[in-house]
Amino acid sequence: MDIFDKFDPMKSRLETVHKLGVDPFGVKFDDIMNATRGRIGNREIVLAGTNNYLGLTFDPDCMDASIKAIKNHGTGTTGSRIANGSYEEHVDLENALANHTNMASAIVFSTGYQTNLAAIATLAGPKDFIFIDADAHACIIDGCRLSPAPTIRFRHNSPEDLDKRLTRQGKIEDGIALVVIEGLYSMFGDRAPIAEFADVCEKHGAYLYIDEAHSFGVFGPTGCGLAEEQGVLDRVDFISGTFSKSLASIGGFCLSKHIGFEITRTAMRAYMFTASPTPSNVAAARAALDKIAEKPELRTNLAERAEQLHAGLAALGYELCADPSPVIAVRRPNEIIAASEWNWLLENGVYVNLAVPPGTPQSSSLLRISLSAAHTKEDIDHILSVFKEMSENSDELNARVAEVLAAAE
Ligand code: PMP
Repeated sequence: MDIFDKFDPMKSRLETVHKLGVDPFGVKFDDIMNATRGRIGNREIVLAGTNNYLGLTFDPDCMDASIKAIKNHGTGTTGSRIANGSYEEHVDLENALANHTNMASAIVFSTGYQTNLAAIATLAGPKDFIFIDADAHACIIDGCRLSPAPTIRFRHNSPEDLDKRLTRQGKIEDGIALVVIEGLYSMFGDRAPIAEFADVCEKHGAYLYIDEAHSFGVFGPTGCGLAEEQGVLDRVDFISGTFSKSLASIGGFCLSKHIGFEITRTAMRAYMFTASPTPSNVAAARAALDKIAEKPELRTNLAERAEQLHAGLAALGYELCADPSPVIAVRRPNEIIAASEWNWLLENGVYVNLAVPPGTPQSSSLLRISLSAAHTKEDIDHILSVFKEMSENSDELNARVAEVLAAAE
C-alpha cells in the first residue's frame, strides 16, 4: 500500500482535465501588470477571476504604505502576537476596523481561513451548538470540526429552516447557539437574507456570525458589507472577513459588537500559535480600508460592471446562478465541458475560475467570474465578445471534449 494510493481517483480526474489543455489548478502567470491584466508567454490576459474586487492591489497609496512598513519594520514578524508582541500596524488596523464598522472589538489574523478557524472553534464550547448554512465555506466547516460543539446544518439561505432546527433543539442548558452564515456566497454569488436571519437569531437568543469575505468593501454605504447594505449591521454579533479580496493584501479579521470578544485572544489557538501578519500586509490593508471609506465610487463602478456583464451573458443565453454581483457564476453542464471552455477562454485571453465539486454547491460545474472596480466598460465588452465567440465555436469545443472522453475510456 502506497501512502498516495488514496488519491488515485482524484489523480485520474485531474489527468482527464489536464488533457484539455493547461492545468486549471496550476496556472502560472509570467507577469501581473495591474489589477486587470496579466501575461502568460507573450499573451496578454484580462484578469476576471482574481477577487480583486476594488482593484486596490496596485493602488499607489496601498503600495506606498506596504513599502514604508517594510522599510520601517522589516519583512516578517517571526512570531505570534501573544509570544512575540504586536506591531503598531496590527493595533492601528484593529482600531481603524472597529471605528469604521462601529464595533467594540476587532482582531486581525494571518489569513481569512485562520480567522474563521480560530474564532468559530473557540467561540463555540462543549455545551454550545453551532448552526451553519449548508453551503458554508471550507474554513467555516473546519472551524466547526475543531470546535467541541456539535454542528447542525440548515438549508442554504433558509431562515425558515434555521428557525425549525433551533426550535427542535429547544433550550440549550448552560450553553449558547452560534449561527454562522456568509454575506455574499463565493461560488454562485448569491446574497444571504441577513435581516431574516437576524430575526430568527433574536427570537431564539442565538448569536449571529457572518463571514463577509466577499462582501466587505463591496456592499453598504460605507463598504462594511451586506449586513450594512441591508441595514442590520448593529444586529450582527460577529463579522469576519479577509484582506485577500477588497483589502488588497493577505490576512483576516473578526469584529464583534461585544467587547468580551477581546478575551479570546488568549484562547484562539490559530491566533496564539501562528505568526502574526507582516507589517507590510497589514499596512496595505489599512490603506485599502481608507479607500473603502473615501471612495464610494469604487463600489458604484463595480456594481455597474456587474450589471453590464450579467445582462450581456444572459443575453448570450448563458445560465447564471444568481442576480448581478461582483461574483458571476456561469453554470455548465459538466466538469469536462467547463474545463474545456475554461481553457478556450484562457487561450483567447480571458482568465476566469474553473469551479467544480467538491468546492461548489449542488455539485455544479462553473465558470466563475469575479469582477473588479478596475475593469472598464470596454473590458466587460471584451469579455462578452470572447464568451460570444466561444458559444459560436461550441462544435469545435464539443469535438475536443468527445476526443478526451473517448481516450479516457
Ligand atoms: N471565507 C470565504 C467565504 C472565502 O471564500 C475565503 C477564501 N476565498 C475565506 C474565508 C478565506 O480567506 P483567505 O483567502 O484570507 O484565507
